[in-house]
Amino acid sequence: MVEQDKQGAFVRYILYYPESEDLIRQSSEPKNLGPAPRDTVRGRQGKAGNGLASRVWKGVPAVSLVDRFQRSISYLRLSVTDRCNLRCRYCMPADGPDLIPREELLTREELIRLTRIFLDLGIRKVRVTGGEPFMRGGLLDLLRELRDLSGLDSLHITTNGLGMASHVPALRDIGIAGVNLSLDTLDRHTFEKITGRDGLDDVLETFHTLLDHDLTVKINTVVLGEWNSDEIGRMARLARDHQVEVRFIEEMPLIGIARASTIHWDQERIIDRLTSELGTLRPLPPNGGTARRFTIAGFTGTIGMIAGHTRSFCSTCDRIRITASGLMKTCLYGPDTIDLKQMLQDGVDDNAIGAAVSEQVSNRSSDGFEAHSGCGPRASDCMSSIGG
Ligand code: SAM
Ligand code: SF4
Repeated sequence: MVEQDKQGAFVRYILYYPESEDLIRQSSEPKNLGPAPRDTVRGRQGKAGNGLASRVWKGVPAVSLVDRFQRSISYLRLSVTDRCNLRCRYCMPADGPDLIPREELLTREELIRLTRIFLDLGIRKVRVTGGEPFMRGGLLDLLRELRDLSGLDSLHITTNGLGMASHVPALRDIGIAGVNLSLDTLDRHTFEKITGRDGLDDVLETFHTLLDHDLTVKINTVVLGEWNSDEIGRMARLARDHQVEVRFIEEMPLIGIARASTIHWDQERIIDRLTSELGTLRPLPPNGGTARRFTIAGFTGTIGMIAGHTRSFCSTCDRIRITASGLMKTCLYGPDTIDLKQMLQDGVDDNAIGAAVSEQVSNRSSDGFEAHSGCGPRASDCMSSIGG
């Protein structure tokens, strides 16, 4: 069947999704984490363009999203809010982020519908991120709904861990496959300097609760020359003592304010530091993610290296992103490609949305450098809106 969509492009489709409103449950509010610093609320960014032309085969087996470099996309990072209870220096502008107006954030129904569309396109792994996902009301209900979607192999979450230890049993019951916990320091004062909040003890409580409940945990540590490079060995020792992966992330320049255009702590320098403090890092076979993984003699867990700034993993990148306001990004460094929320609001059907997604994926940049060239800073480039 061929139809003309609202943008005037011809879209070929073969199936139809009945909307099932009764799948949508009432949300529950998360633990009150206290007032976050004051923010401003910004207006919606300019609409992203969309070119619709490709054919979407919905049904079994799902189509796969493949770009022009033959990279299959199977991993969706879904930002569920741009709100956060921390103000990490590398993530948010110093004077606070311009918050997306509430009505411009994706609703729960939209998040579920979009995820279903992406699962039908071959996505198998979904990571819920933010902002801080636990700042979104009804997060646990949302996770349950996502978990129940057909086609999903694994559901993950990235969190700063603040004030969420009490939710850990629920995460385990939901069947969350892995929790990435952001933690840049084990020093209370440094934590406050980096994040703007005296929250280290709280985050460590979450860390230990996650381990006590046998959840798979990865620690995300952004290496910031002036703040925590002296703690690289100390952070790595968490993987000596616990069954976790400690991943060192190069600081990326993609934030609300322009900084870090040059990098002082790239992965090689971090590896050198680890080697001199802890011994030889033995490489582990790639497991499909962006991290280079290592083991160190005597360690229970593993070490990961995420070259977010030097971008050495682009040739195997398998991910796609939806920002908190529904903009799709085919590369973290690239521009928004399509405005999915706008398409939903315009009444575009799921198959046409799938076609637009396929089209954009097929035109994906070769790497983060190509994607970044000519792409000036935009408010939506704030990590807390993109989701990292
Ligand atoms: N609030 C949650 C958290 O912090 O885990 C989820 C959202 S946060 C944007 C996702 C990840 O992006 C975190 O691990 C954070 O450290 C990372 N991140 C944010 N800004 C970054 C930057 N400029 N460079 C490298 N990593 C960054
Ligand atoms: Fe918030 Fe996460 Fe960004 Fe820190 S990294 S400000 S916790 S969204």
